[in-house]
Amino acid sequence: MKHRVVVIGGGHAGTEAAHASARMGVETILVTHRKDRVGEMSCNPAIGGVGKGHLTAEIDAFDGVMGVAADLAGIQFRLLNRSRGPAVRGPRTQCDRDLYKAAVQDQLSKVPCLTIVEGEVTEIVIENNHVRGVKLSDANVIEANAVVLTTGTFLNGKMFIGHEVRIGGRHGEDSSVKLADQLKDLDLYFGRLKTGTPPRLARSTIDYSGLVEQPGDANPVMFSIENSQPAARQISCHITHTNAATHDVIRSNLDRSAMYSGQIEGVGPRYCPSVEDKIARFPDKDSHQIFLEPEGLESPLVYPNGLSTSLPFEVQHDYIRTIPGLETAEIVQAGYAVEYDYVDPRNLWPYLELKSLQGLFLAGQINGTTGYEEAGAQGLVAGINAARKIIGEEQVVFDRTQSYIGVMIDDLVTNGVTEPYRMFTSRAENRLHLRVENAHDRLHELANSLGCIRPDRRALVNARRTEIEKATDLTASLSVAASDARASNIAIGRDQRNRSFQDLCTVPEATIDDLRAIWPELDDCAEWAVELIMNNHRYQPYIDRNERDLARMSGIADHKIDPSLTYKSVSGLSNELQEKLSLVRPTTIGQASRISGMTPAALALVAGLSKKRHEERSS
Ligand code: FAD
Repeated sequence: MKHRVVVIGGGHAGTEAAHASARMGVETILVTHRKDRVGEMSCNPAIGGVGKGHLTAEIDAFDGVMGVAADLAGIQFRLLNRSRGPAVRGPRTQCDRDLYKAAVQDQLSKVPCLTIVEGEVTEIVIENNHVRGVKLSDANVIEANAVVLTTGTFLNGKMFIGHEVRIGGRHGEDSSVKLADQLKDLDLYFGRLKTGTPPRLARSTIDYSGLVEQPGDANPVMFSIENSQPAARQISCHITHTNAATHDVIRSNLDRSAMYSGQIEGVGPRYCPSVEDKIARFPDKDSHQIFLEPEGLESPLVYPNGLSTSLPFEVQHDYIRTIPGLETAEIVQAGYAVEYDYVDPRNLWPYLELKSLQGLFLAGQINGTTGYEEAGAQGLVAGINAARKIIGEEQVVFDRTQSYIGVMIDDLVTNGVTEPYRMFTSRAENRLHLRVENAHDRLHELANSLGCIRPDRRALVNARRTEIEKATDLTASLSVAASDARASNIAIGRDQRNRSFQDLCTVPEATIDDLRAIWPELDDCAEWAVELIMNNHRYQPYIDRNERDLARMSGIADHKIDPSLTYKSVSGLSNELQEKLSLVRPTTIGQASRISGMTPAALALVAGLSKKRHEERSS
């Protein structure tokens, strides 16, 4: 048999997996329902955000697809958390849905060794507990030594609009029932999850005149090392709000929502709740923000972000019309919920191969995650490992101290999921180091050693390194008299010691413009390189302290946690962990560490809180 990887599914996990495997020189076949829907954004046409933007930057460090496609398709770029520290800033772009799909398909078409086959996989061919290929619905068999399964929400997918139920993985596509049945025979643990999407509105029926306009950033931050500015025309989004009338319509129809009538058993994404969820869970809130996001430059559709729903069509129509600007809005496609099977990711090795079946790798929403970026990052890992398996190389495990990709996979395979898993910076104990701006610097050595970086990309990374070295050399030689630094309004101590560039970087208020005013020669270096070095200096003391804390943590499993601690509203703890800690009220660090979803970062925070409380009590 030929050495070959087959990837099932042309979504975000599948395209990254297929591209990565082919990039590594292994013959790869991507089988998917419809060629024209390869790279389809099933829900919100946007890439990135806090945590998700970090994953996209890391995918780019491995020469993946997502960042390049987002840059080409981006029509409104915004850096989220701009006013906060660089570690938690996340680039996000609203995309033109068609441009995004076209950019993904174009990239796939340019990799040698990759073929796309249209069809439905109904069976994975297995011999002696080893994958041998896939069988399609037309009975054709494609042989392969490794298969990457990335079927998203399609395994036993059911779509709900009110009490109306349809079998399907997403709008306009069938679900994968036969494949789901076969997987059930593999003795795996499964669960059921759900997600939803809002109705799409006709752009021409929206009255924008009284709404708040939200333009993109003046200096957009790109996702890929390949790009320095957007390719597409940039547009604004608009903001509106729900109100008491909207809430009344929804509240009086809650029993008609699939989520509330008991039809959907699966658990939904906590951080992307349906509008009926929000209204039932937060009865005191009299308004919720809605972003009106165009689906593309020429698209007649608008995506009302914040209105995901499974209410009947007529109720969607009624509540939409209560919202300012949407008084005469027409729904072109109803919102719906989808419920689907996922495979408990604890069935997987950290390189995403099933523990119980050689050669079958799983990536994306099938592993209990939600979001394009989470799916894409897993696809990258599965594609690399499937290819490495075939060429007889050792499987690669991503280290959680070095990447968000590593954090996600470690969380998944260690703790499993109880609800759709989404990436947040709070999940990473090493988040001060894992910044978007240094993704290439952190990960290039690994990516290059795995053989998944193409030569033109390597050249870009080398050029980047040259810029960083130039800025490092220059900044290392800079010095200023204390009086001159003070004269430039930098808040330093009273002594007369000369200050280095590094010294001034640790002054929290000092900006790059302040430092440039003191040392005009900094203008000879790329601004991003100077900022990177500034942030490295600024964060290094905290990173060192964090590492010491983590080393200490490993020896304190028996340490008591103060039982009077309250976890609600503790910043740095996700809502999910605040709830779980409040429920469990762990008495030792060891017990807290075993709470599902607990991260080393959160554990360090709990230990710190407990220590502080103990000190306060004994003082
Ligand atoms: P998908 O992108 O779903 O791709 C699966 C692919 O597999 C498809 O191309 C399909 O055709 C193919 N396929 C399936 N079965 C077979 C088969 N047997 N043979 C061949 N091909 C097959 N994410 C968020 O972050 N926030 C949200 O609010 C959100 N809402 C969503 C709402 C809906 C209705 C849906 C459907 C998804 C939503 N998502 C949301 C999730 C987001 O779309 C997914 O996380 C992401 O697309 C998962 O990527 P994936 O590659 O795992 O799967």
